[in-house]
Amino acid sequence: MIAIPRVSPRTGGDGRSGDRNTRSLTMHVLVLGAGVTGVTTAWYLARAGFEVSVVDREPQAALETSRANGGQISISHPEPWANPGAPLTALRWLGREDAPLLFRPHADSAQWRWALAFLRECLPGRTRRNTAAIANLAVHSGQKLRALRAETGLAYDHLERGILHLFFTPEEFAHARGRVAELAAYGIVARACEADECVALEPALASARTQLAGGLYAPGDESGDACRFTQELARLAADAGVRFHYDTTITGLSCTRGRIDAVEVRDAQGRAGALTADAYVVCLGSYGRALVAPLGEKLPIYPVKGYSITAPVIDPARAPSVSLTDESRRIVCSRLGDRLRVAGTAELNGFDTNINAARCQAILDWVEARFPGAVDLTRAERWTGLRPATPGNIPLIGRSRIPGLWYNTGHGTLGWTLACGSASALTDLISGRRPPVEHFPFLDGQR
Ligand SMILES: Cc1cc2nc3c(=O)[nH]c(=O)nc-3n(C[C@H](O)[C@H](O)[C@H](O)COP(=O)(O)OP(=O)(O)OC[C@H]3O[C@@H](n4cnc5c(N)ncnc54)[C@H](O)[C@@H]3O)c2cc1C
Repeated sequence: MIAIPRVSPRTGGDGRSGDRNTRSLTMHVLVLGAGVTGVTTAWYLARAGFEVSVVDREPQAALETSRANGGQISISHPEPWANPGAPLTALRWLGREDAPLLFRPHADSAQWRWALAFLRECLPGRTRRNTAAIANLAVHSGQKLRALRAETGLAYDHLERGILHLFFTPEEFAHARGRVAELAAYGIVARACEADECVALEPALASARTQLAGGLYAPGDESGDACRFTQELARLAADAGVRFHYDTTITGLSCTRGRIDAVEVRDAQGRAGALTADAYVVCLGSYGRALVAPLGEKLPIYPVKGYSITAPVIDPARAPSVSLTDESRRIVCSRLGDRLRVAGTAELNGFDTNINAARCQAILDWVEARFPGAVDLTRAERWTGLRPATPGNIPLIGRSRIPGLWYNTGHGTLGWTLACGSASALTDLISGRRPPVEHFPFLDGQR
């Protein structure tokens, strides 16, 4: 049970100590990070009447992990990677450079602690609990995204054609059939499809027909360009009065008498400064953990590296427009206008952001095998990003133990899917309202 403070955005406080830094009657919130999580947080806070600023080290929004992800609004896949089957999958691919799940050991205690915690979250009971929490937040998020689109008319190469999960062995397909009832319990519509029905839904799968065992189709899922969405929403937010401090690197958080009172920054010219507000929200992706650690806060977030390629479509009939998930290879693909985005793989390799040729090649090979002639792979853009992952894939949303400091971070594999719901829930919490999401472990400052 969480304790929710009763405050109004106009009281000028965060429910613990009131406004000490501004003379304005409106509470000022500084959002740290302008990825999809930070920008949606800024948007919902501004809509709720808060004064909002955003700070990011990049020259514009969504240039790090939110830049070129798989594009899926995947409400129908709430089950986290930490599930009872994960350890076996990792063992099966052990030693292979193109493994969908790869652990590269470092002399870094945070990495080992995270890996052990991940194994603990693979226990069936924990997987069930995490799945339920993510499913409820994902359903809420889908509703919020649709409402936001209706309100703003945002265009971001989105498609409402559902997601088709593909299975290439009869065992996997049989297991998938069992997921239909489980998803229905969370209000998520999905149906099992024989191979022929999969091809009827997505004719570009015709050449894969003989290998396909079946699919699971979730018509309510969507796809779209998270980067374009975030940059467009940032533009609307700026028009609505949100201040963006780009090219500004956060170097530390300053605390006085146990309360956060400023964010220390350095601008593009290397000049040091400070930004102050009444409340601060951490949306820093994989980099938040190190910034809050000196305050005694231990965020269970570790970077899980992934890759994508984006290639121009040269034969629209051969390129899928239903968003697809290859469950055994953990590869997803989304049509973004006249481009095809294909993403996947997970690697525990610290903060390394170099492009590994073998891992990128695994994705390129997948495209060539599944959709020959659909895209121009010679013009494919290769990208890598660090998913800010918690061991059970449950994002950290709510109040920290430090007065004035809030979290909306750690969305791992589902940051695009969960962005609108998480941001709106955090806004509810800061406003003293209970978010309409059942069985989700919102943070209450007690951890
Ligand atoms: C290969 C891949 C495929 C994916 N596919 C999907 C998908 O299909 N569907 C889905 O839902 N999710 C997907 N994800 C996950 C999703 O992309 C992430 O969860 C999401 O982008 C995280 O957003 P964020 O805002 O938390 O982090 P980020 O986008 O990384 O934003 C953090 C921001 O903080 C800023 N920052 C960090 N440190 C500092 C500092 N010291 N000072 C100032 N600024 C700082 C950064 O510049 C950045 O803009 C995928 C991820 C990957 C890697």
